[in-house]
Amino acid sequence: MNWDDHAPAGDIVIRTRGLTKDYVLGAETVHALRDVDIDIERNEYVAIMGPSGSGKSTFMNLIGCLDTPTAGEYWLNGEPVAGKDDDQLAHIRNRLIGFVFQTFNLLPRASALHNVELPLIYAGESASVRRERAERMLDKVGLGDRMDHRPAELSGGQRQRVAVARALINEPAILLADEPTGNLDSRTSEEIMDLFGELHGGGQTILVVTHEPDIAAYTHRTVLLRDGMISSDERHTPTRGLAGARPSSDYQRPVGSAADVP
Ligand code: ADP
Ligand code: MG
Repeated sequence: MNWDDHAPAGDIVIRTRGLTKDYVLGAETVHALRDVDIDIERNEYVAIMGPSGSGKSTFMNLIGCLDTPTAGEYWLNGEPVAGKDDDQLAHIRNRLIGFVFQTFNLLPRASALHNVELPLIYAGESASVRRERAERMLDKVGLGDRMDHRPAELSGGQRQRVAVARALINEPAILLADEPTGNLDSRTSEEIMDLFGELHGGGQTILVVTHEPDIAAYTHRTVLLRDGMISSDERHTPTRGLAGARPSSDYQRPVGSAADVP
């Protein structure tokens, strides 16, 4: 097959064709991802769902250029990714991908500000540019008054906001979140998902891995994986979050969210 014929045009941020990942464990081969074809357009907000072991994290790691496929093709922002070496993948990751993880993955001894600045250090920005951009990003996620706090001095929801600010600092083509609310209580989960909703409203493309239908309900499209294959892929109207219906009447909007602006 001539893969060049599949190279995306226009506003397709992610395109995979025949994306496959096998793990070889001694005599056994685990087919973690089989022949996955997907297109994700700019400003889509997509949930990846599926039972444990269905390949969600494997898919995310390939999309995020943290791992390389066994076979198949992948374009990120129109650039072919398959066949790139580790250094090239690290460069692509830093420019085009923002990650948010269940466990926040912040540097424990560094302030919120320093955590958010980190990707800019790798990108070679000057100290003044780093500080100014990191401050602006922390303001945007509602942590303007917590910049000097270390992770241990922040709540779980605030830590995840720092992680979101860090993920966005390089203006990535896509925000990838693997179970971003997995360690948060339901109220805090709603706040983080409302933040994602605001970012999506501002044009951000978002891919979120979750096993919770309540989280998928914030998105516009749900892709279901089963045994490493896409078993369904449906666009839908969000039923939760800023764009959707409220699950309960006593829900209070987080202070400082975009919806407070008249
Ligand atoms: P999910 O995130 O949906 O729970 P994963 O992508 O983690 O699923 O795993 C998909 C399959 O690949 C599972 O059968 C899992 O055991 C296997 N797998 C994942 N990572 C590895 C690895 N590093 N080595 C061997 N097998 C793996
Ligand atoms: Mg997983």
